[in-house]
Amino acid sequence: MPSEFSRLITEALKLVDRCYCPYSGFHVTAVLEDSDGRLHSGVNVENASYGLSLCAERNAVVSAVASGSKDFTRLLVHSPDGEPVPCGACREVLAEFCSASFPILIKGPEEERIVTLGELLPERFALPSRKR
Ligand code: ZN
Repeated sequence: MPSEFSRLITEALKLVDRCYCPYSGFHVTAVLEDSDGRLHSGVNVENASYGLSLCAERNAVVSAVASGSKDFTRLLVHSPDGEPVPCGACREVLAEFCSASFPILIKGPEEERIVTLGELLPERFALPSRKR
């Protein structure tokens, strides 16, 4: 495990029981670290109307912004049920605040790997004034 992610992993493991995933049974937690070292957490929250379900990653971003943070240093996405690769919507939401070099640790039940946001989303949507 990369040491810079150790605090995030500890937090992510504690959050698994808070996931609300009665339809998929796929638990996902996300922990976002900001530039002040504060951690912002999210869990997936599903809905009977499937399209209204919210991913852990986007919930972590929304929670961080609501608490005044918009400058992030790293993200951990964890699932005990399989490899939790961020979906397209979450990639775009992260791209609103994070650069292409932003590191993301994807941690499944056994495997883990670090990718950059630029690797996940090489052609982001952005207004010309917001390109980076
Ligand atoms: Zn997502």
